[in-house]
Amino acid sequence: MARRLQRPASIRPAVISVEQHLDRILRTVQVIRPFEQGVLDAQGCVLAEDVTARGSLPGFTNSAMDGYAVHAADVATAAPEAPVVLPVVTDIAAGNAKPLSLAPGQSMRIMTGAPMPRGADAVVPVEATDGGVVRVAITARSVVGQHVREEGEDVEAGTVVLRRGTLLGPGQIALLAAAGVARVRVVPRPRVVVVSTGDELVEVGRTPGFGQIVDSNSVMLTAALTAVGATAFRVGGVPDDARALLDTLEGQLVRADAIITTGGVSMGAYDTVKEVLSRVGTMQFDKVAMRPGMPQGFGLLGEESVPVFTLPGNPVSALVSFHVFVAPALRMMAGRPEPSWPPGYLPAVAAETFRSIPGKMEFLRVVLDDDRARLAGGQGSHMLGALAAADALAVIPAEVTEVRPGDPIECLPLLGREGP
Ligand code: AMP
Ligand code: MG
Repeated sequence: MARRLQRPASIRPAVISVEQHLDRILRTVQVIRPFEQGVLDAQGCVLAEDVTARGSLPGFTNSAMDGYAVHAADVATAAPEAPVVLPVVTDIAAGNAKPLSLAPGQSMRIMTGAPMPRGADAVVPVEATDGGVVRVAITARSVVGQHVREEGEDVEAGTVVLRRGTLLGPGQIALLAAAGVARVRVVPRPRVVVVSTGDELVEVGRTPGFGQIVDSNSVMLTAALTAVGATAFRVGGVPDDARALLDTLEGQLVRADAIITTGGVSMGAYDTVKEVLSRVGTMQFDKVAMRPGMPQGFGLLGEESVPVFTLPGNPVSALVSFHVFVAPALRMMAGRPEPSWPPGYLPAVAAETFRSIPGKMEFLRVVLDDDRARLAGGQGSHMLGALAAADALAVIPAEVTEVRPGDPIECLPLLGREGP
C-alpha cells in the first residue's frame, strides 16, 4: 500500500475564524509613539496629553450683540412708550484696542466682540433703539450683564480643556487655537505603505496589454486609507519575484507604521508574497473562514516590528479584508478606543433571498434602500462593477446558509459610502 503523504504534526489548524485572525492582529499591533504636531495637522488624531488653556476665553469682557454699551441702571425704566435718551460718546468696533471708560448717563455704540468699556455693565441690542449715532433713544429696559460675555466665562486660563485620549475634530482644534495652544502631542496618523504584487499589473492610466490588468488594488486601498484618516504611500505593482518583493519591502519599512500588500498569498505557483514572507519575521499565513478573503497573512517585519497585512489579490477580497482586519488595527494604532468584534453593525432587512455556504462568514455586497438590502450584482471576488454599486457588506454568520426576504441582517457600511 502506497504511503500517504503526511503533513508535519506542528501545522496550525486548517482554517481559523475571522475572530481568531482579528484577535491575533489586535493583540499584536501597538499604539504609535506620540509626536508633537501643529494643531491643523493634528486633526483626526487622538491627544496624547492633557492640554491646559494658556489664556481665558473670552480673553476680555466683550459685547455679545451689536448695540449700545450702557449702565443698566440708566435704562431700568426704558419702554416703547417711555424711551430713555442717552448721548453716544463714541463707537467701539471689534478689534478696538484702546481702553475706554463709560461714565453714568452716557452710552457707546458697540459691535459684537468689541471690548466692553470700563463701567458699562450691559448692552442694549440695536433692535431695541432708534439706532442713533449722536443720541440714542432706548425703548427696552436692560439688566446687569445682559448681552455681555464675561472674561473667562467659557474657559479659565490654566485649566485642563482637553483630556488625553480625546479625538481632535474641528471643534477641538478651534478650542486649542483659541486657548493659545499651537502645538500638541498626539498619536500621529498611521503612515501605511501599499504594495501590490503581480506580473500582470500595469500602472493606473496605462492601457493593459493582453493578459494584463490595471493595478486597481493600490488605488482602492490608498482611498480606503485616506477614508480612515491614515496617510497612504502607494507603491506601484511589484512583479512576482522574490528579490523584487524583498527589496521593495526593505526599502519601505523605514517610513511605514504598517504595510499592506495585495496578491500572492493563495495556492498558485507564483504566490511570491507567501513564499517569501513565510520565513521572515513573525509572519503567519492562514486560511480564514470567510468569503471572500480566505487567504490572509499577518505579522511583524523589520527592526521596528512593522505590522504587515498581506491581503488576497482579488479586489473585493482585498477591500473586505481591509474593512474587517486592517481598519480596526489602524484604529488601535491611532490610539482610538479598542475596536470590538462584532463591530457596530448597521441593522437592515433582506429584500431578497441570500444564500451562503456553511462554515464561512460571508460578506455580501449589497445595495441599501433605506434599510432594505439587495445584492449589488454578481458576488465574484473579482467583480468591481458590483463592488462599486454596493453601499455595504451584509455579514452572514458562518452557520447561516440562507436568509429569506424580511429576515433581519447586519451590515458593515462600506467606507466612503455613508453619505446620502
Ligand atoms: P493573487 O492573489 O495574486 O492570486 O491574485 C488574485 C486575483 O486578483 C488575480 O485575478 C489577480 O489578477 C487579481 N489582482 C491581483 N493584484 C491586483 C491588483 N493590484 N489590482 C487588481 N487586481 C489584482
Ligand atoms: Mg498574483
